[in-house]
Amino acid sequence: MLLPLAEARERVLGPLEPLPTERLPLADARGRVLGAEVVAPSDVPSFPNSAMDGYALRAEDTTEAPVVLEVLGTVLAGQAPNVPVTPGGAVRIMTGAPLPAGADAVCMVELTEPAGPDRVRIAQAVPPGEHVRWPGDDLRAGQVVLRAGEVLNPASLGVLASIGVREVEVVRRPLVGVWSTGDELSEDPGPLAVGRIRDSNRPALLARLAADGFATLDLGILRDDEAVVARALREAAERCDALVTSGGVSVGDRDVVRLVLDEVSGGEMAWMQVAIKPAKPFGFGRLGSRRIPLFGLPGNPVSSLVSYELFVRPALRRLAGHARVDRPVLAGVTEEPLPRRPDGKVHFLRVACRIREDGTLGVRSAGGQASHQLHGMAAAQGLAVVPDGTGLPAGAPVSVLLVEADDLPGPGLTESLGVADLASAGSGGGPRR
Ligand code: AMP
Ligand code: MG
Repeated sequence: MLLPLAEARERVLGPLEPLPTERLPLADARGRVLGAEVVAPSDVPSFPNSAMDGYALRAEDTTEAPVVLEVLGTVLAGQAPNVPVTPGGAVRIMTGAPLPAGADAVCMVELTEPAGPDRVRIAQAVPPGEHVRWPGDDLRAGQVVLRAGEVLNPASLGVLASIGVREVEVVRRPLVGVWSTGDELSEDPGPLAVGRIRDSNRPALLARLAADGFATLDLGILRDDEAVVARALREAAERCDALVTSGGVSVGDRDVVRLVLDEVSGGEMAWMQVAIKPAKPFGFGRLGSRRIPLFGLPGNPVSSLVSYELFVRPALRRLAGHARVDRPVLAGVTEEPLPRRPDGKVHFLRVACRIREDGTLGVRSAGGQASHQLHGMAAAQGLAVVPDGTGLPAGAPVSVLLVEADDLPGPGLTESLGVADLASAGSGGGPRR
């Protein structure tokens, strides 16, 4: 019986809870997930100040502009004003300097000119509040600034610094152990003996985990020796927050991995056949005294990465406290037919994506679609979700799970600014030869 993907995901994701929190200095918190909401202790800005270099004045004194005002003093950023603005007067002010008492607006310096000693000519009427940043403009005291489950991006670290936060409570980053299984796997750099292959799953999964913000532990290749595998698993289960293995999870697989995992988990492994292609076989269980999640991924290289995307990544993001566990799914359009055969499964095809002139996402097959053809995965930015049936013709709508969004080909900022000529003549377009 094939298990629908949604059900399989619910079995895995349903029971998982975020890890405990820890306190970190801001400098170490980038990319981490907030464990508790942060409230602003006071207004930001905390005092009215100038958004421009110019003259602080009373707006009502400028209604008959041009007018000449008396310059009563100067206030620089970081200083307390030492004179108030009285009727007919102005105080020279720099950006960020506190607005002197009596002033309610700032005339920018470009609209002024000297008019004799200690006099300034204001060219235009200045509306009340012009170029003034009022207290609480950015944040109000008591306001929730950031919520639990949010990722700390560089700007949010700046926000925290702006309210005087030096340490922040974040969810502990999951440490994920990764190993490979299979007697065919070789680590020897020399030529391969007949029947041996290189271990590509472990480096790919370790890199994927690191790119997704998780800490990793490389547990190497576990050979088919029950006692060795069992001991390695028990040790890893005490050190790590989650474990990922690939290979040996198919029906009828003779690898000892399944047997050992059943034993070590006390029978807690669920071996599923999920209604998807690739990545149909999948094992999930809890291990050790902390009942950490263990993911048994299929051995085929593409399958292990697709299984990672559909199960492991969202599960680990739940452990890591993310409010949002899944990658974005975009509405794409096929630019060529994406054929498949009916088999009761949802297919996740590796597709090369591009943003078209009209902003829609165009998708094409990224290469061979068999589960050992890792090259196609490397060339893909997305996984196209192709429902059971005979596939999609060209021009059909298709949902795309975007797995590599940063380098999507398509119009960039230069083109959208309407300077296409510069773009083609200029420096864009990859390395020069
Ligand atoms: P299995 O799930 O163990 O039956 O393996 C399925 C296929 O994936 C076989 O062709 C294995 O040789 C291959 N495979 C298993 N583990 C790895 C690995 N770590 N790296 C590359 N290929 C693998
Ligand atoms: Mg195997």
